[in-house]
Amino acid sequence: MPQTQERTTTEAVGSTAACAAESSTVHTETGILIVGASQAGVQLAISLRGTGFEESITLLGEEDHRPYQRPALSKEFLQGKVDKENLIFRSAEYWDDHNITLVKNSRVERIEKNSDGSGVAHATDGHQYPFRRVALAVGARARPLEVPGAGLSGVSYLRSADDALDLKGRLDEFTDVVVIGGGFIGLEVACSLHGMGKTTTVLEHGPRLIGRAVGEPTSEYFLNAHRDRGVNIILNSRVESLVDAGNGKVSGVKLEDGTIVPAQLVIVGIGVIPNTGLAEQMGLETDNGIVVDRYALASDGSTIAVGDVANMPNPLPGAPEGERIRLESVNNAIEHAKVAAYSVSGRREEYAGIPWFWSNQADMKLQIAGLSMGFDSTVVRRVEEKGKFTVLYYREGQIIAADCVNAPLDFMAVRAALAKNQQIPAEAAADPDVMLKTLAVDREDTR
Ligand SMILES: Cc1cc2nc3c(=O)[nH]c(=O)nc-3n(C[C@H](O)[C@H](O)[C@H](O)COP(=O)(O)OP(=O)(O)OC[C@H]3O[C@@H](n4cnc5c(N)ncnc54)[C@H](O)[C@@H]3O)c2cc1C
Repeated sequence: MPQTQERTTTEAVGSTAACAAESSTVHTETGILIVGASQAGVQLAISLRGTGFEESITLLGEEDHRPYQRPALSKEFLQGKVDKENLIFRSAEYWDDHNITLVKNSRVERIEKNSDGSGVAHATDGHQYPFRRVALAVGARARPLEVPGAGLSGVSYLRSADDALDLKGRLDEFTDVVVIGGGFIGLEVACSLHGMGKTTTVLEHGPRLIGRAVGEPTSEYFLNAHRDRGVNIILNSRVESLVDAGNGKVSGVKLEDGTIVPAQLVIVGIGVIPNTGLAEQMGLETDNGIVVDRYALASDGSTIAVGDVANMPNPLPGAPEGERIRLESVNNAIEHAKVAAYSVSGRREEYAGIPWFWSNQADMKLQIAGLSMGFDSTVVRRVEEKGKFTVLYYREGQIIAADCVNAPLDFMAVRAALAKNQQIPAEAAADPDVMLKTLAVDREDTR
């Protein structure tokens, strides 16, 4: 039978007196407590049921929304093409039917854990959640901008549904927007707002766009493409301060060279910080995320950590031993949660599939297969008249990744080759008229 479902802690508390009573609530012990009810936490709960896990599951998150998908926040949701309901992962009935207790609007501030993996999580509202096993799917938070004026009204971030709802409510209040940060989210937001007729400027601190995730040819492609479409982009920009209109609202961004870029809205997209606070409090090893092994187990051998918060061994077949990575993507959250679900169920299954990522920017659909870290050469394929653009990444002669813009066949070919640990010889791949899938050969054949 289903347990009490979808409890919103503010809803459960009716008065101050009730609040005092509620504050000492100790819940029934759950089989597994999943802290963080977003992409990774949701998938872990679903996959646990898929692997036959029969104990009770509590999925707890601090946001006051039913679990939702983030990617559309910077794209279709901001553009008004989908509404909040379209972003919700599963219906309330789903959680009921699968005996998963969903707790919203509750933040865990401390976890006491025993050596057998059991323990108690303490929430800021006083509720206590005893568990036999715990999983941290706590993700990451937006990196704050630290310059004078960063607290002015009109300065926004885009990590959560609340951020996006707030932003949507302000769309009529501005004509000029500055996006600080030329990464994926910054560029997606810039495209969305430019598409609505806003004068849009992207300020990128580094010498190229999306510098953390793609190589120079892809950065160059997006720089030209965005400028051609009318988005202003300033590279190597140094933000000195945000300008106060005199009423506490932002009116522009001042750069170190004295330039002031007008803006009634400033969106900050300068990366994220993994939420390692709980793990540190628990004494787990952290290093740009929670350090986990191939089975999503943290350093204590029993706590699970999944998704954006986890620093894990590079899962790409053939990756150098000991190389680690923290990925921020939907695909990773899903695949990693599946590994974790097996782990909880006592099975040791390694990460299946090849990491991949997508980003939609205006009419450009970027798909990335594999991980390009450590590449030493690239091959560019371009079919100008069809708007197709692909960069293949090689490391010691072996293909390791591809960035594909409006080139889904290239993406699928590389993803398939990587999954089979195959090679796509660089010289032949340089001809954009040759289908990549016809070039894939087993690695030994290329030696
Ligand atoms: C605007 C935007 C656009 C994106 N677009 C794409 C895209 O196009 N393609 C793609 O692959 N990826 C995209 N991503 C990234 C993707 O959404 C993330 O990789 C994914 O959400 C990670 O899931 P997660 O569950 O690991 O972490 P998160 O989504 O960060 O979720 C963690 C959850 O844990 C909660 N939490 C944290 N601490 C506590 C606590 N102590 N107690 C209770 N709850 C807590 C948080 O509030 C949050 O709800 C985008 C992200 C954003 C923000």
